[in-house]
Amino acid sequence: MASSTASGTYDIGIDLGTANTLVYARGKGVVLNEPSVVAVNATGDVVAVGLDAKRTLGRTPSGITTMRPLRDGVIADFDAAEQMLRALMRKALPARRFAKPRVVVCVPSGVTGVERYAVVESVKGAGAREVHLVEEPMAAAIGAGLPVEEPYGCMVVDIGGGTTEVAVLSMGGIVTAQSVRTGGDALDAAVLAHVKKKHSLLIGEASAEDIKKAVGSAAWTPVAADEDGAPERPTTYTVRGRDNVSGLPRIQELAEDEVREALAEPVEIIVGAVRRVLDECPPELAGDIYERGIHLTGGGALLRGLDLRLRQETGVPVTVAEEPLDCVVRGAARCVEEFETLHALMTGAAAPVRRPARL
Ligand code: ADP
Ligand code: MG
Repeated sequence: MASSTASGTYDIGIDLGTANTLVYARGKGVVLNEPSVVAVNATGDVVAVGLDAKRTLGRTPSGITTMRPLRDGVIADFDAAEQMLRALMRKALPARRFAKPRVVVCVPSGVTGVERYAVVESVKGAGAREVHLVEEPMAAAIGAGLPVEEPYGCMVVDIGGGTTEVAVLSMGGIVTAQSVRTGGDALDAAVLAHVKKKHSLLIGEASAEDIKKAVGSAAWTPVAADEDGAPERPTTYTVRGRDNVSGLPRIQELAEDEVREALAEPVEIIVGAVRRVLDECPPELAGDIYERGIHLTGGGALLRGLDLRLRQETGVPVTVAEEPLDCVVRGAARCVEEFETLHALMTGAAAPVRRPARL
């Protein structure tokens, strides 16, 4: 990888995700990968960020609250988001710096102009010389190794914590896109609600996420181990929680089938977004996509059977990108390393969203 140059000293790329924030430093690689969480005290001061803050989630003493400033794919809390960015950037950058960094930040394609401005200001406030924004689907596609600048249509579906972004890209631009506020968090919430309703058991968000990862599935029917190449896994999960009636701690065994059924509704929303974008896609590009397939990125791409389900519902081949959780930061990394050549794919600090007219 290129070593730091005078103009590129400590330039960094940030994947500001709703669940995880990753920072790439030029010539160094990914130097930070932490949950997008902050803990604030009663007076609103941030007392912990990232991993330190996530550890306290759900077990904070009174007066301290933990929150996810980007929870729903938009910046829900400007102040907290800014403080989190500053703290994480401080952590990622060396203490002794000679030049201010140029920073490339990936933001969800649905964020408003005001939110863009807030991100730019926060990053500048944290010590950036210049700030350039890249829309997440673009970064995800670059990170997944797709030929975004060529005159071929390609489709990425980035399933993060708060949102699912579906986009068709061609010639360095987003041709058509959809962002729905249903992602990994909604899947967790569906598991949590199911366990409460069916088993009268209250469980934490972290447990719900664990259940989803361990036995969750997006397929219509159980996926046989040899069907998608994924390793064998247990078919039940034992969760600990608090009985809703007696208030006492209790364990409960959950079957794979009931978890799959619990996830059906949010999965349907994700599938629907993909279908809509395919429907809106200009015919030539649709042809390219039928040939080259849909590429899944983001942590939600790891949900068992999602590739299979999308293939069945659309008839289009589906590929889960390698290391889907890192796709966006890998795209940001390329934007940092090849800034001059990829500059056209980024938007300036104050510039409006660059969205080419439909073909
Ligand atoms: P964001 O870009 O919004 O920060 P990420 O791409 O980091 O989101 O993905 C985080 C989401 O991916 C979380 O909802 C998490 O539960 C989910 N996730 C991570 N691993 C898995 C897995 N193995 N199966 C299902 N979901 C997963
Ligand atoms: Mg993301």
